[in-house]
Amino acid sequence: MKMEAYSGPPPRRLGERLAGGVVFPAWARREHAGYHRFRRDLEQSQFAAPAELEQLQQRRLGKLLEYANVHCPLYRERFRAAGWREGEMPDAAAWRSLPLLTKRDLQQHGSAIESEAFPRAQRQRNQTGGSTGSPLQFQVDRARFATRMASTHRHNAWAGHQPGDWMAVLWGARLDAHAQDGLWDRCRERLLYRTVELNTSSVTLPDWDRFVQAVRRRRPRFLLAYARAAVALAEYLDGCGIGDLRFHAIITSAEVLSPAHRQIIECTLGGRVFNRYGCREVSVIASECAAHSGMHVNAEALLVEVVPDPGLSAPWGRVVVTDLLNFSMPLIRYDIGDVARWSEAPCVCGRGLPMLAEVQGRTTEFLRLPGPRVVSGPALTLVFADLSSVRQVQIVQRPSQEVILKVVPGAGYDAGVRAELRQRLDLYLRGSVPLAIEEVDAIPCLASGKYLFVVQEAAAAEATVLER
Ligand SMILES: [Zn+2]
Repeated sequence: MKMEAYSGPPPRRLGERLAGGVVFPAWARREHAGYHRFRRDLEQSQFAAPAELEQLQQRRLGKLLEYANVHCPLYRERFRAAGWREGEMPDAAAWRSLPLLTKRDLQQHGSAIESEAFPRAQRQRNQTGGSTGSPLQFQVDRARFATRMASTHRHNAWAGHQPGDWMAVLWGARLDAHAQDGLWDRCRERLLYRTVELNTSSVTLPDWDRFVQAVRRRRPRFLLAYARAAVALAEYLDGCGIGDLRFHAIITSAEVLSPAHRQIIECTLGGRVFNRYGCREVSVIASECAAHSGMHVNAEALLVEVVPDPGLSAPWGRVVVTDLLNFSMPLIRYDIGDVARWSEAPCVCGRGLPMLAEVQGRTTEFLRLPGPRVVSGPALTLVFADLSSVRQVQIVQRPSQEVILKVVPGAGYDAGVRAELRQRLDLYLRGSVPLAIEEVDAIPCLASGKYLFVVQEAAAAEATVLER
């Protein structure tokens, strides 16, 4: 397929300035009351002192706890069991005694978490496929979408993106994908959303070609993508010898980003990578600023904790989030199932928002060894990073604890590389579990478009049981 010449990302154009300066503000004022005020507040508060941000969180938390105690049966019961007195803020010890809210709680006791008083018309049902394929239902206040969008836009702005700017998007099957059939939908897409999208849950070569052509036509300066999808785009461009498709910045999200992948993306796609961490339940949790030394937490909206776990060595812990601004179905001490650690050093950008040094992915993305000992799956990506004859790998752990290393071989892959793979992985497994290597043609991603580096079959089986 012939590609037209492309001269790289342009500066902000008139159309983008009009869409961002006129169309978007008018739409937001009409559809999302509160967006503009919250966005302005966020621009200020990000530079507030940590103590001041903490006070803001405590005020919002107090309001949320009081509301949940009155209107949500599950919390009422749990607060009482934890010995909290009505009208009093829990101290640190009382707070820690509150059981974590799990995904299983959401699946099994969803109606007891919902508010009994929140007006039906002002709440919206939402769901996630869940990383193990097990769906989760939750509710978001209609007003919360305005503050979620304001947070996302603030974090986009750290990468230079403003509303109205075109953005290329490599994403999986989106539950909220907007239909683009009618004239009105097309106008909205063109004037408001301004995205060039490709669903990466199943991509063919002609799909990539069409995407590249659309990018050349719209010339977005930004790319938003799952980390693995951005790598796939870089590999496709390299394979086709296309060297001029460049972005000002690339926002990667939803999957763990290894240093090797960051390097591949930046080398091929030109712009700096701004890694982001978030989930559908609470939207953006944290993201990198231009200093790239960790991810600042969206602390005005979320109270994030890193809770110690017996299976993890300090300072690593489980990510636990409280959404301070959602009342129709409050998520209080919600255990997302990811592993992270805090950054202790303040960021040079001067923002007072707390910073996560690193997110290592799902607790299910850890290999369980006898002992009990765990090996971080995402950390294992480094084991294969320098092997150019290995195109892709996935580690599957069977319920019996046996480990299968699936390999998509590239040019130069041979018995020597296979032996090298075995030897390197065995350094981590120490012979404590059986290891098999399987060469495969491709490693499919999940229906959501996400790619899992480690698949825990036991966790996947549990999720299937819950689903019934
Ligand atoms: Zn910073």
